[in-house]
Amino acid sequence: MDQRTDDVAAHHFMDWLRDAHAMEKQAETMLNSMAGRLENYPDLKQRIEQHLEETRNQAQLLVTCIERRGGDNSTLKDLAGKAMAMAQGISGMFATDEVVKGAMFSYAFEHLEIAAYRNLIGAARTVGDTQTQQVCERILAEEEAMAKWLEDHQDDIASRYLELARIPHAQAKR
Ligand code: MG
Ligand code: FE
Repeated sequence: MDQRTDDVAAHHFMDWLRDAHAMEKQAETMLNSMAGRLENYPDLKQRIEQHLEETRNQAQLLVTCIERRGGDNSTLKDLAGKAMAMAQGISGMFATDEVVKGAMFSYAFEHLEIAAYRNLIGAARTVGDTQTQQVCERILAEEEAMAKWLEDHQDDIASRYLELARIPHAQAKR
């Protein structure tokens, strides 16, 4: 690549790293509110808490990549992501089947993350940033594992919700 092509690629790459950071801050807010509200779904709660820890670490890893590439952390685009996460959390609370909708949304969100890290891996390869590529491959594996867990448990969550919903005063929705 000539110098201009290099600059353009590096610019987009930095942009996508910042987008990924905003996405992780959004994920952190959503996972935190879900884990805090769940009462009757201990397996789901535990898996979400595990992924919350992973997510916090992912955000930190991205900061390290951004800084190593000479990016400025003071202008990270996290506010929009946090606002969207709050909106998602609040709208979820009003659903009578909150846990079912939450698991569905989480499954979709994990796939958004999977797509984002695949983009980043391709971009890292293009600009020759092996360290960032390895970080993104490691994060991708965590997102895929979370998506797979949700895939394997969605039907159980729906069944449990329907069973709890038949019991008077049970908090089926969470
Ligand atoms: Mg993530
Ligand atoms: Fe994730």
